[in-house]
Amino acid sequence: MASSPIPNLFLLLLSLLPFLPIFSASNVTLGSSLSANGNNSPWISPSVDFAFGFYQLNNTNTFLLAIWYANIPDKTIVWHANTTNPVQAGSNVELTASGLTLNDPNGQTIWTSQPNGTVSYGTMLDAGNFVLSDTKSNFVWESFSYPTDTILPTQILPLGGMLYSKFSETNYSKGRFELHFTDGGDLELNPVAWPSELPYAPYYSSRTDNSNSSESGFQLVFSQSADIYVVKGNGGVVRLSWQNIAQNPNNYYRATLDFDGVFREYTYAKTSVSGQSWSIVRHIPDDICMALTNPQVGSGACGFNSYCRANGGTPSCQCPFGYSFMDPNNNFGGCKPNFPQGCGVDDGTKKPEDVYDLVEIQGVNWPFGDYESLGPYNQTQCEQACLNDCLCDVAIFGGTICWKKKLPLFNGRMEAGLAIIKVRKGSVPPSGSSSFPISNSKKDKQILLWSSGSVNVLLLVVIPLMFFSIRWKRSRKAEHDSSVPETNLHLFTFEELKEATEGFKDELGSGSFGIVYKGVLKFGSKKQVAVKKLDKSTQEGEREFKAEVSAIGKTHHKNLVQLLGYCQEGPHRLLVYEFMSNGSLANFLFGLPRPDWYQRTQMALGIARGLVYLHEDCNAPIIHCDIKPENILIDQNFTARISDFGLAKSLLLNQTRTHTGIRGTRGYVAPEWFKNVPVTVKVDVYSFGVMLLEIICCRKMAEFGEEEKAILTDWAYDCYMNGRLDILVDNDQAAIEDKVTLGRWILTAFWCIQEDPSKRPTMKMVTQMLEGYVDVPIPTSTSFSYSSS
Ligand code: ADP
Ligand code: MG
Repeated sequence: MASSPIPNLFLLLLSLLPFLPIFSASNVTLGSSLSANGNNSPWISPSVDFAFGFYQLNNTNTFLLAIWYANIPDKTIVWHANTTNPVQAGSNVELTASGLTLNDPNGQTIWTSQPNGTVSYGTMLDAGNFVLSDTKSNFVWESFSYPTDTILPTQILPLGGMLYSKFSETNYSKGRFELHFTDGGDLELNPVAWPSELPYAPYYSSRTDNSNSSESGFQLVFSQSADIYVVKGNGGVVRLSWQNIAQNPNNYYRATLDFDGVFREYTYAKTSVSGQSWSIVRHIPDDICMALTNPQVGSGACGFNSYCRANGGTPSCQCPFGYSFMDPNNNFGGCKPNFPQGCGVDDGTKKPEDVYDLVEIQGVNWPFGDYESLGPYNQTQCEQACLNDCLCDVAIFGGTICWKKKLPLFNGRMEAGLAIIKVRKGSVPPSGSSSFPISNSKKDKQILLWSSGSVNVLLLVVIPLMFFSIRWKRSRKAEHDSSVPETNLHLFTFEELKEATEGFKDELGSGSFGIVYKGVLKFGSKKQVAVKKLDKSTQEGEREFKAEVSAIGKTHHKNLVQLLGYCQEGPHRLLVYEFMSNGSLANFLFGLPRPDWYQRTQMALGIARGLVYLHEDCNAPIIHCDIKPENILIDQNFTARISDFGLAKSLLLNQTRTHTGIRGTRGYVAPEWFKNVPVTVKVDVYSFGVMLLEIICCRKMAEFGEEEKAILTDWAYDCYMNGRLDILVDNDQAAIEDKVTLGRWILTAFWCIQEDPSKRPTMKMVTQMLEGYVDVPIPTSTSFSYSSS
């Protein structure tokens, strides 16, 4: 008998018994019932991790029949019975042989589970699955088969499986997004035409559908080890496009399609950690505001007429000046104008300039749905064109083009462009409405541009109104700050950082001021960090330390390496950053294999946006002073992030130029450093230009070898003039096929490295040039050769 494989299998199963939750559960017997009254104890899983019962919704006398985490203060719901509305107090649920029946206080049935068999008992399993079993202990119904917005480890979505986002933070009814594991085996995230079930084009796809069923997706699996992946018909595994994680066995994990359309995996330490909340492990898409590019219909992440700004993957929605949230309790529900608009409202009896003001928002765009695009226009012509057209509600001005738009606006987001909003005079948002977004950033500073028929009056009006708008923002700042992520730096003790780095063991790199070590924070999120230990109190080191802390301590941008905290204890000076797992741009560009053209362009655009942020969007402009591929690091999502602010110079408010000793690295420094003239943010534009050529060509700025190729800037110019872009990109097919972009990007680089700083574009203009919003002429001056530093 011992030789037969079957008893062996049996023994194996027996040995697994303690780990199989089903055997250790206490059962719910037929005839059991629960009622919604706020003090009825729910049915609990043996480990006490999950509860099934009536969950009382915050500050209401309404309940959801739900499953939630029972063992932690954050009793997050992971499943609820699919009812349109929460149920009233006095409702009850009963378990009978025909399943669960939910009745309202009048005995009317609202919901039933529909088991495929006769029920003998129910069980709340430790995995978070509530199951109904028949006499043979076969599951005839399980909550895992009817997921709402969440899946849990060990849960599987079969072909056709769906998750629905809830409508808002507090409203559990079906919302505006769904996650669909399609019949064809593709994992997709779709916006849904609300309030219907019709999905729009996906904003994420795992691309795992295939006409060959063994190659096509078969199940979406949330494994016991907290990983989420698609399993193909042939058993192969396809990972989703997010970073890998290391599971902490002492944590809970869940993945939820949140109401804002982001699919997030969360974790929570099972042992009590005071003040703990669910922390995000990873999410798809990276930036929901930019992800919804497909649909030419639908409202986008934030609802109609609003615009979306993502902060670390979490979007926030804002209304333009003169507009307010449709539902003041839901910022994701879109905005409405506070004034009547359109033709016919004024019967053409008044001049438009007497009726409307124009408000400018920098860097906001509604990229779809223009009804007219005019040009070449300058900004004034664009303003006039919208003002004089009763159909026009908003114009976007970019370079030489003026795009006219009418309501509703959709898919609004932070993007190159100047939004000119036409607002009826006197339509300041009503007090108490949160329509005027407040932000620490100046990016969405909304300025009243036009207020009178006479341009001479413009200045008189603009200045006081700018003050008005800024003062207005300040007065409302306090109430909003509570919702913005904490920007304060953490002050670490030396001991903590010694522990985090295991006694400064794992060296990541070293630079001029000290060594950078890898570490893991021991508390909370167990975040990976890079700790820069500055050499013992040199004066230089002290200056570098101060420069970093003060320059980037308050910054927050997707394309900057975030400073998390520092230590200043006795002689110790340390800086703690987010850990960048993919090395530096220098390694990436100049290593093998040569990185792909698309990835290179995305990185260049990211760096340009990071610089726009430093130059224009911080309280006072920050000049980085040392832009070069070694100081750009790459995170796990292959996003390029500007780092090393050791030489950065923060300009005082209203200061735009400064006298300072030479900073930077030979070959990347702008010529004005060597002339006794004040430097401006344009020195970074110069360095960016040099680096842009390196990114385009995948080669270093200076190389030994053939003389005509030695200096990249000169060689690039010669190649361009000779029409030989192909040799410049070393036969990179993708780049050659993208010829128009390639040519425009090279010209942009030439503009950046102009000798005369005033001829160089601002970084904002550079992003517009790179993105193709403006035509880029050939610079007339060629005096941009390699500065002889
Ligand atoms: P320096 O001012 O001395 O040049 P850097 O800030 O550029 O110092 O850091 C030196 C090296 O340390 C970098 O080239 C990189 O390899 C590594 N490093 C720095 N910060 C990080 C980080 N956040 N994540 C990973 N590696 C880092
Ligand atoms: Mg460096």
